[in-house]
Amino acid sequence: MQIINPYDQTGIWLRGSFHNHTNNSDGWFPLETVYKMYGGYDFLGISDHDKITKHEGKREIPTVFEAIEVSSRQTHMLLVQPPHSIMEDYSNEFTIENYQRFVDMTVDNGGFAVLVHPNRFFSNFWELEDMIKMERYLGVEVYNGDGNPEYDIAFDKWDALLSAGRKVWGFGNDDSHVYGQEKRAWNVVQAKENTNEAIIEAIHQGNFYVSTGYGFDGIRTEGNTVIADLRSNELLDKMYKYVTFFGKDGQVLHEATGRINQAKYECKGDEGYVRIAVYLEGGYSAFSQPLFVK
Ligand SMILES: [Zn+2]
Ligand SMILES: [Zn+2]
Repeated sequence: MQIINPYDQTGIWLRGSFHNHTNNSDGWFPLETVYKMYGGYDFLGISDHDKITKHEGKREIPTVFEAIEVSSRQTHMLLVQPPHSIMEDYSNEFTIENYQRFVDMTVDNGGFAVLVHPNRFFSNFWELEDMIKMERYLGVEVYNGDGNPEYDIAFDKWDALLSAGRKVWGFGNDDSHVYGQEKRAWNVVQAKENTNEAIIEAIHQGNFYVSTGYGFDGIRTEGNTVIADLRSNELLDKMYKYVTFFGKDGQVLHEATGRINQAKYECKGDEGYVRIAVYLEGGYSAFSQPLFVK
């Protein structure tokens, strides 16, 4: 049995979000205010609708990413570090060909693509069959902080893609437009250093997890056992945790609860993948990437 652990490479843990708006599209605030709203973040992406907002002006966030949200009426797609040449003859029309062309250009530019808020059924969402048709995108936005728990969460589609054999990572982003939507969901990336290159490299490897307030100190394997070290300190160790290990088709493989700071699952070999969700008493959560089991 082989377990592919995306968290193998250690580094520093960095916090950030890739999908946020300014008043350059339908966000309420100018770029400089958005930087302030995200004070304390290690990195931040700005992804206005159908345009690349240039990073400029005073900011304290060390690393910033150019991004764009391709926003057809049907579906939205986030491109992080797209080449500026995508704006030549730009159209947001949703066809697999057009969206795939954007993915390819962004990947060839060293960036990555994420299919966002795939379950936002009242406006812009993804049909699973279209997600299957698309290629080379890196992930799916499984947690969107825009605000609707019944629409902005998409673990079902992630599990469906993973179970169909697709290697796609889960992302968490605020998709912030207005004050109060910031710092709801983010990505915690284990990178060698805080640079665009190191963060993108770690993201490609899947060396990150989604958080809404809780976290992992690390995820490792010993033989066939997956070990999740939950974020631990004297105070957190007193709090109750709910840990679930999920496998193919979103099936629950194992659950652990209690005032614990570690949870383990021994793989049998037929899981396909193992991913871990943990909730701290009160609702703060963290969601790991899948460890593929072969
Ligand atoms: Zn959107
Ligand atoms: Zn958005």
